[in-house]
Amino acid sequence: MGNDKLSESLQYLKSIGPKRAESFSSIGINSIRDLLFYFPSRYLDRSTILDSIKVVQYAIQGFEGEVTIIGKVVDSETHYYNKKQVFKVRFKDNTGFFECVWFNGAKYFKSVFNPGNYFAVSAKPVITRYGHLQFAHPDFDRLADEESSNFLNTGKIIPFYRVPKQLREANIGDFSIRRIVQAAVKDYSNFIEETLPVSIIEDKVLMKLPETINTMHSPLNYDLLNKAKTRLKFEEIFYFECMIAMRKHSISKSTKGTSFKVKSAPLKSFLKSLPFELTKAQLKVLSEIRKDLEDDKPMNRLLQGDVGSGKTIVALISMLIVIENGFQCAFMAPTEILSDQHFKRFTELLSPLNISVEQLISGQNKTDRTRILNNIKSGKTNLIIGTHALIESKVIFNKLGLVVIDEQHRFGVLQRSNLVEKGYRAEVLIMTATPIPRTLSMTLYGDLDVSIIDELPKNRVAIKTLLRGENSLHSIYDFIKTKTKDGYQTFIVYPLIEESDKIDLNAALTFYDKLRTGELKELRIGLLHGRMNWQEKEQVMIDFSDKKYDVLVSTSVIEVGIDIPDANIIVINNAERFGLSQLHQLRGRVGRSNKQAYCILVTKNELAVRSNQFNFNMEYLSTEQVEKNKSIIRLNSLVKYPNGFDLSEIDLKLRGPGNIYSTQQSGMPEFKFINIIEDGDLILDAKISAFEIIENDPGLNSEKNIFFKNVLQKNYSSSFFFAHIA
Ligand code: ADP
Ligand code: MG
Repeated sequence: MGNDKLSESLQYLKSIGPKRAESFSSIGINSIRDLLFYFPSRYLDRSTILDSIKVVQYAIQGFEGEVTIIGKVVDSETHYYNKKQVFKVRFKDNTGFFECVWFNGAKYFKSVFNPGNYFAVSAKPVITRYGHLQFAHPDFDRLADEESSNFLNTGKIIPFYRVPKQLREANIGDFSIRRIVQAAVKDYSNFIEETLPVSIIEDKVLMKLPETINTMHSPLNYDLLNKAKTRLKFEEIFYFECMIAMRKHSISKSTKGTSFKVKSAPLKSFLKSLPFELTKAQLKVLSEIRKDLEDDKPMNRLLQGDVGSGKTIVALISMLIVIENGFQCAFMAPTEILSDQHFKRFTELLSPLNISVEQLISGQNKTDRTRILNNIKSGKTNLIIGTHALIESKVIFNKLGLVVIDEQHRFGVLQRSNLVEKGYRAEVLIMTATPIPRTLSMTLYGDLDVSIIDELPKNRVAIKTLLRGENSLHSIYDFIKTKTKDGYQTFIVYPLIEESDKIDLNAALTFYDKLRTGELKELRIGLLHGRMNWQEKEQVMIDFSDKKYDVLVSTSVIEVGIDIPDANIIVINNAERFGLSQLHQLRGRVGRSNKQAYCILVTKNELAVRSNQFNFNMEYLSTEQVEKNKSIIRLNSLVKYPNGFDLSEIDLKLRGPGNIYSTQQSGMPEFKFINIIEDGDLILDAKISAFEIIENDPGLNSEKNIFFKNVLQKNYSSSFFFAHIA
């Protein structure tokens, strides 16, 4: 393999001298190959272009969408309206006239729209009161004269490339870059080597690479363009999944796990001691975990389950199996307050079983800490509960068998590799209540097996979610007072403003005082905020749990995992300030018993409250509408969807995949072609193929697989996954 023609410098191209080559270099295009892979950012298609006469008809019929139209500049004028500059350009096409207006930037636009020039203009059409067809602030592209007549006659699709500042400075504009790339494609695309083997290309009916490159730069129609894109997407995700599969394989090979024996007697008696029966989903997930524990491959499993679905008990039973085999377990919680809650509950549940449970968190005194550390080291302690500090600190385990990580999204992916690096061959169970859309979990956690608890315990009543304006607060307080008489407890949450803990604290404090002395003075009110240390928080939680308070005023520190069955009302103030998954987590604090629970979202955003009255559907909203109304959509979604998985899909659409978790934490790869939201089927298809190949031939040494190995080594060797694979 290897054809050096494509590695040659851009200077070998006709219209490129040293100066232009340098400016291309500055945007990362060094070789001819790089240029061939510099794809258009968008296309303009003849078939989507309308005549002005047609657009007028559409506009009269009340059509609301965007259209694209091509016209020649006739003239332009600047005038004043209410002391503001208005810039207007008149265009002509074969069937009539139309105009575009801008309410700012007159000076700039005047220099752009010279009479005689052709432009493609896209926007929503309106008919003015003078009967003119008009576009306000349209998107536009200038077309070369020859190009526009050509284009209109042949029905070609015109590619548009991003032209960054560095290129413009070297006098490369929309036309010249098109010309440069077209010439390169014509002379060099035949030299492109295929990067997928024939077997895959045939099997998946993919376009070959040289044809793909050609099509990307000058597609004959959209069908072919989509085929070209699919080919690029498939290749991108396929090799990515190969690396994930290799990583999975290398982990399972390098660390041979333990095969645990499941002793049923103690397990049965433990299950009998529980005040409830496990749900079908819990049992199914447990049997998947059990299989992992029994065979000698180390477990690497992600346990997904909505808030309140009962993941904790599943983890506890898994730990029991491991402890019965004489191994230790570590349970890591995202916060100390949660660690503490689990510690208490586990101690209680395990007390008849002669299992030693310890907790390791900050703020413990030195004597205790030393004793606990010694007990962990000597093996006297069977189960250690703590925060992620457990992994980071100098804790030495005697015989670590299983690590459970609760609320994984709080940890990020990195910590889990930490364990492996420390040399422990423990099984790993990661639990998350942040439902991750299927496509995301497949890529992000592609090397994990996934178990899903898709059912809530039977006794649960669906939470009623209500959206109210701040003017309803008075009646909300009345509602709380009435419900308190029926034994309800209530959370009242105020948002956390990240930049200023202080303001935030003040808000909670002020409201706490106001409520205590005002509207809710006959109730007992507690306060919880982020500035308290964990012992103080713990005390408040214990008191609340013991029903010493009717109402708990809190900042969002109660977000994750806290479990208080009698708290069945949560009021979330300034709800528009919270993210969707955060709101869902907060809502999950209630509805943990057989009583009707309420989640009341309070917002200043009157529009959100009003829009709640009609049913909206994400699918029908344009990107622009979504962009403008995110908080309205979030609040309405929460009212409409009880299920975290549905919400996570919406969240993904609202935020884009990169923002779901902070990027450094997520380890989310940045894809060039793949769209995590839209390409689910393709991702799955590529994943299955990749995993099959790697499972049969992990080193890619067989004749038929050597091709992949070469491509991986050549194109992906810098990848962090691939680094440790020979
Ligand atoms: P999460 O999945 O959010 O971590 P938890 O494990 O905290 O949920 O469980 C929520 C509550 O449901 C706990 O009080 C737990 O004891 C209870 N629970 C768990 N499983 C069941 C079940 N099968 N039937 C009834 N209640 C259950
Ligand atoms: Mg939990």
